[in-house]
Amino acid sequence: MKAEIIAVGSELLLGQIVNSNAQYLSKRLSELGIDVFYHTVVGDNEGRLVEVLNRALERSELVITTGGLGPTMDDLTKETVAKVLGLPMILHQASLEHIRSFFAQRGRIMPESNTKQACFPEGAKILANEVGTAPGAVVEAGGKTVIILPGPPFELKLMFEKAAVPCLTQGHAYQGEVILSRVMRIFGKGESTVEELVKDLLEQQTNPTIAPLAQVGEINLRITAKGKGKAQAEALMSGVLGELEKRLGTIIFGYDDQDLETVVGQKLKELGFTISLAESCTGGLISSRFTDVPGSSAYFQYGVVSYSNSAKEVFLGVKEDTLLTYGAVSEQTAREMAGGIREKMGTTLGLAVTGIAGPDGGTPEKPVGLVYIALASAQEVMVKKFQFGGPRKNIKLLTANAALNLVRLYLLSLESKYSFRRGDN
Ligand code: ATP
Repeated sequence: MKAEIIAVGSELLLGQIVNSNAQYLSKRLSELGIDVFYHTVVGDNEGRLVEVLNRALERSELVITTGGLGPTMDDLTKETVAKVLGLPMILHQASLEHIRSFFAQRGRIMPESNTKQACFPEGAKILANEVGTAPGAVVEAGGKTVIILPGPPFELKLMFEKAAVPCLTQGHAYQGEVILSRVMRIFGKGESTVEELVKDLLEQQTNPTIAPLAQVGEINLRITAKGKGKAQAEALMSGVLGELEKRLGTIIFGYDDQDLETVVGQKLKELGFTISLAESCTGGLISSRFTDVPGSSAYFQYGVVSYSNSAKEVFLGVKEDTLLTYGAVSEQTAREMAGGIREKMGTTLGLAVTGIAGPDGGTPEKPVGLVYIALASAQEVMVKKFQFGGPRKNIKLLTANAALNLVRLYLLSLESKYSFRRGDN
């Protein structure tokens, strides 16, 4: 089944809102195995909507519209669909009652103009709107299906899932193909190294497909599996995921919307650990990332931005001697920062970063992008040296990623030690 989406609304054309409805519908249709070939955005203009609908009905079996179901004069989607299909508009009494009671429940009387929302092209199947006034509709004519959905995303999603999906998957044209798509998120190796590790899989791929995508500071692999039904698509997906996980191991940090801070937070929580931070060159970015995760107060205790030397001495207890002998950006200072914050706050872990974010301040011995990251536990303080490139903001971002990843790898190593001991028993 070939489908296309038409988003109606001048606000979209003016750039005032993003066409998130089309994105949502496309994603869901792809999961249902329905190919979407076109997205169109058209303003609240009858002539242009007629043109767009005619074109869509020529080339697609399924057309989904969003928006333009309101009570005002410029809401004209249903009327225009009826016109294009040559159908009269009919008042649907049950919908009118529903809209009236929607107003009554809020202590208001329905304005006459809302009657328009209860009128539909003749023969339409009405899709109830549980959270708004405008019902949607499915109109079938000449072997084509038009699904009319409201504009507000919350209303659209609910109506699509509860009313439109059952119509689509029960329709005769539905092939029952399911497309599953997952994003594997990788950190700690460059794009070419990752490609090298999975080269043969990339070359052989047909179903599932594997598409590499380089992001700032991480590599993504998008895996897309197509199957007859969910179970087959899932089996294909898990086969490829298993093979990739075997080859890439711990450089995979998460899937889909799991970012480093989410994964690290989850592990800290599971282990009952707490953490405090001492940040120099990142200026609080890592603390901010930690606290982006809901529920982070369970493990994130304290973050200090110790930018100056005196802040490092006063708040973290870094020795003056260390700063004078080795400098603020050094393995020794990073070590004392991490140990200092951990001890002062009494947390399980202390994380510290110090580096030269640039563009000035670099020397031949300590160039811009040189960063030390230290992680202190009760047993030890480990320090890693990094050399990052790019502008200041990049260096800060890469430092934050590397610091979060260092914590992640440390927690993973504890987990594997623990499971090894468990395995011994
Ligand atoms: P209403 O009953 O609220 O008038 P409607 O179906 O007429 O609903 P529109 O008037 O077209 O919808 O849009 C209402 C609101 O829905 C817009 O102001 C916007 O916030 C949101 N919206 C509309 N279309 C989209 C879209 N394609 N993507 C995301 N949001 C949208």
